[in-house]
Amino acid sequence: MNKETTKSGGGSMYAETVKIQPRKVKGTFRSLKWWATVITLAFWHIAPFVRWDRGPGAPDQAILADMEGRRAYFFFIELWPQEVYYLTGLLLFAAILLFFISALAGRVWCGFLCWQTVYTDLFVWIEQVVIGDRNARIMFEKKPWTADKIVKKTIVQAAWIAVSAACGIAFTLFFEDAFKLLPQIFTLEASAGVYAFIAIIGGFCYLLAGYAREQVCLYMCPYSRFQSAMFDEHSLIISYEDWRGEPRAPARKGQSFDGRGHCVDCKMCVHVCPTGIDIREGLQMACIGCALCIDACNSIMDKHGLPRGLISYDSQVNVASRAKGGHPGTKLVRTRTVLYTLLLTAIAGAIMLGLGTRSTTEVNILHERAPVFVQMSDGTIRNGYTYKILNMVREERSYSLKVSGIEGARLDVVGGESGVGETKLTVMPDEVGSFRIYVNVPEANVRDKTTPLFFTLIDPTGITVRSETLFAGPGQ
Ligand code: SF4
Ligand code: SF4
Repeated sequence: MNKETTKSGGGSMYAETVKIQPRKVKGTFRSLKWWATVITLAFWHIAPFVRWDRGPGAPDQAILADMEGRRAYFFFIELWPQEVYYLTGLLLFAAILLFFISALAGRVWCGFLCWQTVYTDLFVWIEQVVIGDRNARIMFEKKPWTADKIVKKTIVQAAWIAVSAACGIAFTLFFEDAFKLLPQIFTLEASAGVYAFIAIIGGFCYLLAGYAREQVCLYMCPYSRFQSAMFDEHSLIISYEDWRGEPRAPARKGQSFDGRGHCVDCKMCVHVCPTGIDIREGLQMACIGCALCIDACNSIMDKHGLPRGLISYDSQVNVASRAKGGHPGTKLVRTRTVLYTLLLTAIAGAIMLGLGTRSTTEVNILHERAPVFVQMSDGTIRNGYTYKILNMVREERSYSLKVSGIEGARLDVVGGESGVGETKLTVMPDEVGSFRIYVNVPEANVRDKTTPLFFTLIDPTGITVRSETLFAGPGQ
C-alpha cells in the first residue's frame, strides 16, 4: 500500500510504501488456496525426480533441460535446439489458455497458482506462525529491538532463506539428473554454475516473496495491466454487491438490518486482502482474485445471521440480475470462449501433428564458393559441397544419398564411397555427420551457369529428406 504525497508546482511524487500485513482467514477459498499451494510446490519439488525410460544411453528424467547434451525432454517428447519453435507453440498455447481461463473464471492464475502468490502466501504464513496474526505483526514491527524481536526476526529470516534455497535448488534439478545433482549440492561437489543459479533463483524468491510482494502484481507483472481486456460481462470476478451492502454501518450482534445495508463496515475484507485494497470500491487492477475477502465477509455474514455472498465470485451480469431480483445463470458459450477454444485446438493440433510427423534426420548443405566450379582435365565440371546430416536417434545409421536434376551427375564423397547418382553415408548415434561431397557432371550436360540440383537422403526406415541446391558451370 502506498501513501502518496504530491506538491503542486514542486513535482514531488514520493510514495511511501507501507507493508501490508494480511489477516488470517478461514473458509472455502482459503482451503482451496492451500491445496493449490501444496499441488504447485509438490510439482516444483517432485517433478525432477520422476523417471521416464528412453532406452540405454538416454537420460531417464521425465522433465529435463539437458544443457550439456543440448536437448530438452518432456516425458516421450525430445526436442533439439533447432526445434525451439515447439517451445514457442507451447508458450502461445499457455498464453491463450490463460486468456481462456480469465474469460471464464477471472484471475484464477493470479489468485491461486502464480509462483508469486504461492511463495508470498508461504512467507506470510511463516510470519504468522512465528510472530502472530495481523495485529501482533503490526505491533511487533513498531516494537524496539529486544532479544525477543531479534530471535523471532532471525527465525523468520532463516525460514525464508530455507524456502528460497529449496526453490533455487528445485530449479537447478530440472537441468541435470536430479538424483545425482542433489547429493552433489549438499556435499559441495556441484559446479560453481549450479550454486550461482541457486543463489539467483533463491535470491529472487526471497526478495519478491519476502519484500516486494504485492508490488510485483501492481508494478512488475504485465498481466494485471491487460487483464480487463480479457474479461466480459459474463467472466467471473470478485464483486462487492453494493445493492445489498449499502448503506453500510457498524452493527452489533443480533441487531436488525431493516432499512439498512448488510455491510457492517468491519473492514475484515480489507484486512485479509494480500494487496490491501477495499473491494467495496469496485473491481480494481490490484485485485488478484484470491477470493479471501469472500471468506472473510462470509464469516461476518454468518455471525450476523445474514445470507452469505455479500462479496461474491460471480459475473457482472449475475450481480446486476440479483440486484433486480432476477435469477442469475452461467453463460459459458460466448464468442470469445468459442474463439479461444478454436485457437487452443488449432495450436495443440499443430504441435501434435508436428511432433507426430517430424523427421529424425536434418540436413544442411553448403555450396563451396571459391571456386564455385572446377573444370577437370577430362572436361568434367565439378562442384563441391559440405553436406551435414543430423542423426537424431540413438543408433548408428547408414543413409543412402542420391543426386538428381542433371543427367550423368556422379557423387564423390571425400574419404567415402563414390557412385553414379548414389552413395552411402554413415552417421554415429546422436551426432552430426559432416561430409565433403563433389558432384561431377559431363561438360555436355551443363548448359547453364546455374542448374537446380537435388539431393535425396534416405534413412534406414525409408524416410526421405529431399533438398535443393545449385550446380554451377561455365554456361554456353
Ligand atoms: S480484493 Fe479480495 S479477491 Fe481481490 S486481492 Fe483482495 S482479498 Fe483477494
Ligand atoms: S467484510 Fe463484508 S461486512 Fe465487513 S466491511 Fe467487508 S464487505 Fe462489509
